[in-house]
Amino acid sequence: MTGHGQLRGGIDLGGTKIEALVVDADQQVVGQAREQTPTSGGPSAVAAQMAAAMQEAAEAAGVESSALAGVGVGSPGDVDEASGTVANARNLPDWGAPFPVADFLSGRLGTRVLVGNDVQVATQAEFHLGAGKPYQSILGVFWGTGVGGGLILGGEPWLGRGGAGEIGHMVVKLGGAHCPCGRRGCMEAYAGRAAMEARARREVDKGAKTDLFKLMKERGRTRLTSAVWEAALERDDPLATELIERAIEALGAGIASAVNLLDVEAVVLGGGLGVRFGQPMAERISTEMHPHLFNDTRPPAVRVAGLGDFSGGIGAAMLVSGDVSAATG
Ligand SMILES: [Zn+2]
Repeated sequence: MTGHGQLRGGIDLGGTKIEALVVDADQQVVGQAREQTPTSGGPSAVAAQMAAAMQEAAEAAGVESSALAGVGVGSPGDVDEASGTVANARNLPDWGAPFPVADFLSGRLGTRVLVGNDVQVATQAEFHLGAGKPYQSILGVFWGTGVGGGLILGGEPWLGRGGAGEIGHMVVKLGGAHCPCGRRGCMEAYAGRAAMEARARREVDKGAKTDLFKLMKERGRTRLTSAVWEAALERDDPLATELIERAIEALGAGIASAVNLLDVEAVVLGGGLGVRFGQPMAERISTEMHPHLFNDTRPPAVRVAGLGDFSGGIGAAMLVSGDVSAATG
């Protein structure tokens, strides 16, 4: 039995859900809670929901949040780890100006809070504990609301000047589809769940037939979650099938292009859609990558995240012990 002082919290802040975990000294998950990410109310509404999720996870682990040695947060957007603020978090409501996530949460939770980049901490967790363990160089691809990327090269995180890893914005088609980032032809414009949902809504407006939105309502959702996409694919919904195939083609081209540049040993596929679709989807993406690989006789391994939905939360908790470095900068 681990002393409470060694328990740490980790929060993975996503565009659709907030995953809060409590882990012990061996990085085992001993408490967990999940909340929907608020779609309105700005950063303070999102941060309040993060605090609530963390308190629930602590309760599940049998401790008060104030008994945790600390809480790490993996956040999208521009993370300033020194001040614990986050700015420009796209896919989150009205989150432009810097918001003091660490101060807000430490006030609510009664323990210190550290903030890092969501995808980078998840990639480091996969590198240390998950599917990336056998390798020295990996590319993490997190396929969810958007498409994020993280890099470990020669055993070290590669952050560039702080903004590296934005694989979602690899251009897969010049002058192509509009991306949520405001540019055109990005991989995320085809493969991100937000972009796919926007496309599905436009197709329905034009008269396309699909069960996607019916399945969404049946599940009491307001967005096309990974589970909704999976259910639609299982019943061979034509629009869902077409949009997912389009996404896989874009992922194949974009990931292969990154591999041509970096020659990593393995690609680790995570994120809500990546984890839900699992290894069969990793293999489809690998097949789709193949024609674009320059060194096509030795393709990289493509593996689903070994920590599944928990890689972001566990990586965030690792910020507290200093096992991973805080994201950007
Ligand atoms: Zn983009």
